Amino acid sequence: MSENKIPYKIYLEESEMPKAWYNVRADMKNKPAPLLNPGTHQPMTAEELEGVFCADLVAQELDNENAYIEIPQEIRDFYKMYRPSPLVRAYCLEEKLQTPAKIYYKFEGNNTSGSHKLNSAIAQAYYAKKQGLKGVTTETGAGQWGTALSMACSYFDLDCKVYMVKVSYEQKPFRREVMKVYGASVTPSPSMETEIGKKINAEHPGTTGSLGCAISEAVEVAVKNPGYRYVLGSVLNQVLLHQSVIGLETKAALDKYGIKADMIIGCAGGGSNLGGLISPFMGEKLRGEADYEIIAVEPASCPSFTRGVYAYDFCDTGMVCPLAKMYTLGCDFIPSANHAGGLRYHGMSPVLSQLYDDGLMKAVSVEQTKVFEAAEQFARVEGILPAPESSHAIRVAIDEALKCKETGEEKTIVFGLTGTGYFDMVAYEKFHNGEMTDYIPTDEELAKYRAKLPKMD
Ligand SMILES: *Cc1c(COP(=O)(O)O)cnc(C)c1O
Repeated sequence: MSENKIPYKIYLEESEMPKAWYNVRADMKNKPAPLLNPGTHQPMTAEELEGVFCADLVAQELDNENAYIEIPQEIRDFYKMYRPSPLVRAYCLEEKLQTPAKIYYKFEGNNTSGSHKLNSAIAQAYYAKKQGLKGVTTETGAGQWGTALSMACSYFDLDCKVYMVKVSYEQKPFRREVMKVYGASVTPSPSMETEIGKKINAEHPGTTGSLGCAISEAVEVAVKNPGYRYVLGSVLNQVLLHQSVIGLETKAALDKYGIKADMIIGCAGGGSNLGGLISPFMGEKLRGEADYEIIAVEPASCPSFTRGVYAYDFCDTGMVCPLAKMYTLGCDFIPSANHAGGLRYHGMSPVLSQLYDDGLMKAVSVEQTKVFEAAEQFARVEGILPAPESSHAIRVAIDEALKCKETGEEKTIVFGLTGTGYFDMVAYEKFHNGEMTDYIPTDEELAKYRAKLPKMD
């Protein structure tokens, strides 16, 4: 089919939408390392995990064997409200850059939560409901995950308790109110409602909180309240599994027009959108059927892949969660206060960590002023106001397209556009006022956090 026959937006028919999630672990020779009990350092058993997480989700978390896991009909029906998400050929951006590269992006911002997080939120809420639970607890930083989960819980009539990092709670009142529209309770973290919250408030008076601290609070509340479980929006194997719907749709859309991607780019916070986008492509790569260059993009101020270590670490500040083997900066690491662009988690998905360690994907870090420059360049030609997180991927897609301009290569570049930036206008404002700076942690700072990694024997 000739090039100009490819539409601006490639949609799939309902009948072409994925009926099963793809579990990339099934094709990995080196499986991701198991979660460990923080006390005994033994692999967490299903029984132990079921005290914190929903039973069906624990089964998915531990499943390294089954390549395909059926998407329950109820979830597929919900997906139909906002999926398939479009795969867009960035003709206008290509034209603006005068690049021979062909650029595509998969846009996940077409739902009220404004990001890909709804793909996993609806799955997690479904399994909680199926188990007969009353509700779920979670943390949220910037607010996208909390919003997505609130939407999913209201759909299945579940109670939703969100612990929101205090600084975001105060600075992002609109996100907080969106969650309340969907009936969630939103508590600023650290709160005085939990033991860990009281402890952190006593040790750090006036603290504005962190993601790691909010996770500890949400877990404590789930464990102490009968009929509640804790859910997490990134990092975990099960979340990557649910997000594989992004990659499966992308692959189906490309295949429909006989397009072969050369390069796949995504931003990486905890790794869920990138893991989901690349899963089916990585599967082909692992099985030796095709090759792709895969690039994770992270902020220079929170560089888990590029400057972290591959080690067991706590997932939360309170050290109540299981230990995960991942690329990490240390569980006390918090990016500098001037960091506006999201992607601030100290660790990285164990699945992606293993793939990266095995040399199957690359990672680069970018500075936030460069990220916002790319965001505006993109917004002005493609018409979508991107989330700062997503704009990390835009930055590298543009850089790669400009390299093609020099070499004359006609690479096909696919990147994940994870969401919209309507609630991030304070960050855009800082950028416009020239108040945005780039802070890159020093080696000494990183060494200080690394020294606190748990000692494993
Ligand atoms: C949460 C979020 C991310 C980062 O999370 P991952 O788990 O790394 O995908 C990226 N983009 C948007 C819009 C988000 O809301």
